[in-house]
Amino acid sequence: MYDKDNVFYKILQRQIPANVVYENDVCLAFHDINPTAKVHVLVITKGCFVNLEDFVENETPTNVQKFFQSVAHIAKKLKISESGYRILTNTGRDAGQEVNHFHIHIIGGERL
Ligand code: AMP
Repeated sequence: MYDKDNVFYKILQRQIPANVVYENDVCLAFHDINPTAKVHVLVITKGCFVNLEDFVENETPTNVQKFFQSVAHIAKKLKISESGYRILTNTGRDAGQEVNHFHIHIIGGERL
C-alpha cells in the first residue's frame, strides 16, 4: 500500500528541495543526498508506486517503457555511458529499501 508520507513524494510535490538533473512526464531524476560513488542519481516515478512490482503491475506498459528509456537517457546525459555504470532498485526489508516510492539508482563515475 502506497503511503504519501515519504520523502520522494514530498520532492515530487516540491515540498522539499532536490538537486534535479532531469524531468519528464513519467520521471524525476536528482542527485542522491548520500552518494555512494562520484555519480549517484535517483530516478523516481511521477506516479505513486511502492516498488518495482507495484510499478510494472499497475502502470501502463507505455509509461513503464518510457520510464526505463528515461533511465538510459539520463545515464547518457550524465556522461557515464562510455565509462559504465550500475543501476539498482531495492525492494523490501531484506534489500534495505528506505523510501517506499519506486526508484532506480544510477551509480557510476568511477570504478565500482
Ligand atoms: P533505498 O530506498 O534503499 O533505495 O534508498 C533511498 C535513497 O534515497 C538513499 O540512497 C538515500 O541516500 C536517498 N535519499 C533519502 N532522502 C533523500 C533526499 N532528500 N534527497 C536525495 N536523496 C535522498
